[in-house]
Amino acid sequence: MATRSPCLSDRASVGSDVPTIFVLLGPPGAGKGTQAEIISKQLGLAHISSGELFRENIKNQTELGVLAKQFMDRGDLVPDDVTIAMVRARLAQPDCARGALLDGFPRTPAQAEALGKTLEEIGTAVKTVPLIQLDEAVLVERLSGRWVCRTSGHVYHEQFNPPKQAGICDVDGSELYQRDDDKRETVERRIRVYHEQTAPLVEYYRNKGVLVSINGDQPIDAVTRDLLAALGVGSS
Ligand code: ADP
Ligand code: AMP
Repeated sequence: MATRSPCLSDRASVGSDVPTIFVLLGPPGAGKGTQAEIISKQLGLAHISSGELFRENIKNQTELGVLAKQFMDRGDLVPDDVTIAMVRARLAQPDCARGALLDGFPRTPAQAEALGKTLEEIGTAVKTVPLIQLDEAVLVERLSGRWVCRTSGHVYHEQFNPPKQAGICDVDGSELYQRDDDKRETVERRIRVYHEQTAPLVEYYRNKGVLVSINGDQPIDAVTRDLLAALGVGSS
């Protein structure tokens, strides 16, 4: 039989250590993507951003991308069924064998339940849920200055985390752009949607005993330090 790399589902079947799953929770602009990029590398975990997966589908003009774009452009959430299927498929990829840092998923109680069931099937559960908290005025400032790399979604801020050369990604040299949904009206809608549909997950995970609050209104390295401590990893 042909060999292949282990994936999340193989782990349980071979009875070895179960994957470690962290969920980064917080409103749009809180710094989830920025922190997930840094921390996933340090911990050797996959970084799964549902928003980035949708943006890749849009770029590749897939059926899912065409569907998702209508919701994203309005600042609404993409329906649960397609979002859950997309993330489940991503979690089954070989690079998730050790675990994953989820950024932007789950965003509704139905997604959280589905994630819990998926993980239960392989004998694991969400380990820790850092909630990155920030005042709304700061979120708007963060999103209006956000620039993202066309190739791989690396994130910058024109003032707080500028690239070395304006408009060019430090990591891969690709063009930086401002997201359509970072326009002020759409940002306001996205923050409202967060309060209505995603904020209930704070109680959901608090009741499970895995929620930890993090002050997101600090420099990037201070937030990283607090997150690593919350995940029980302490910075080196
Ligand atoms: P999210 O993934 O939660 O939507 P991002 O990680 O994309 O948020 O961050 C939003 C914007 O804020 C980006 O432009 C990013 O460079 C900037 N940013 C992230 N963390 C900080 C921080 N601690 N201080 C200042 N700016 C930050
Ligand atoms: P983000 O990159 O996390 O800011 O997400 C950008 C957009 O993608 C959101 O405003 C939603 O339209 C969509 N999206 C990302 N993640 C999810 C999710 N878990 N559930 C539904 N829609 C999502």
